[in-house]
Amino acid sequence: HAKLDGRNTYRFFTPQMHAKSVRALQLENAMRRALERNEFTLHYQPQICLHTGEIRSVEALLRWNQPELGQISPAEFIPVAEDSGQILQIGEWVLRKAITQLQTWHQEGFQKLKVAVNLSAIQFHQPQLPELIGRILLESEISPNSLELELTEGVAISDPKAATLTMDALRESGIWLSIDDFGTGYSSLSQLKRFQIYKLKIDQSFIRDLDHDSNDRAIVNAIIRMAQALGIQTTAEGVETQAQLDFLRDQGCDEAQGYWFSKPVSAEQISALLASYKPWLPNASPK
Ligand code: C2E
Ligand code: MG
Ligand code: MG
Ligand code: MG
Repeated sequence: HAKLDGRNTYRFFTPQMHAKSVRALQLENAMRRALERNEFTLHYQPQICLHTGEIRSVEALLRWNQPELGQISPAEFIPVAEDSGQILQIGEWVLRKAITQLQTWHQEGFQKLKVAVNLSAIQFHQPQLPELIGRILLESEISPNSLELELTEGVAISDPKAATLTMDALRESGIWLSIDDFGTGYSSLSQLKRFQIYKLKIDQSFIRDLDHDSNDRAIVNAIIRMAQALGIQTTAEGVETQAQLDFLRDQGCDEAQGYWFSKPVSAEQISALLASYKPWLPNASPK
């Protein structure tokens, strides 16, 4: 039927789709000046050890405050930066900023603290990545085993050979590799073992409804059991309630990260938190 065909064709050009591409273009253009104009900052969110209550590491999360467009979420601008290739420059800035900040925290006396940095698959497929990171670590006199890199599942799928070389080089230098958003993508168990993955970060979509969804409880339980069998650490993302925390501790989950403990905050707020922090004890509330 001609009318139906016409309508189906027309659906490719909805006003929403047009608006979306204009927005992406707008972000892409604004991003070209963002680094030199100092529009990016990093916030940091603690990852708490569920065995000792210590803050073991903080995850660096990128923030972009654009003067005309306001605060833009990384969930929106990171994909734009990946499409335009600008993620390479931005990602290098993030690495340098986070590692320099870690040097400051170490100098303030928090020598055991580690920092976790999110890497895009595009950065990961740069053969020079291990060398670049090695140089930044040297500049800041930070040991590789104070750095965690968060990769999403599937990083190794598009170019397994190159990914294997990069993963091996990073691991051999002493850097810790984590799989972010675990459970939402594809990763084979043999890959987890092969790449000597240090940590699985259980995606927050499985944590959100833990209190009333028995399927989520079964999934989280299975992930923790599997990780334990492989000798891999687990971190639950997006922990917001005491009930979620109790379940996770009960299951033997190693770390928690989420609003229950702290939102992502500025570097100065992390310093203040560390200075006054008493390792949280079992069955007590934080702070
Ligand atoms: P992610 O790495 O999985 O980071 C966790 C996200 O969950 C962060 O969102 C964090 O603010 C949020 N979150 C933490 N605790 C809770 C909680 O209890 N409840 C809820 N509802 N959310 C929580 P954010 O900062 O908006 O970042 C979104 C994503 O953007 C990140 O997900 C990461 O994939 C990406 N991203 C952020 N910074 C960078 C970066 O420097 N480089 C790259 N390549 N990606 C980044
Ligand atoms: Mg992450
Ligand atoms: Mg995540
Ligand atoms: Mg994510």
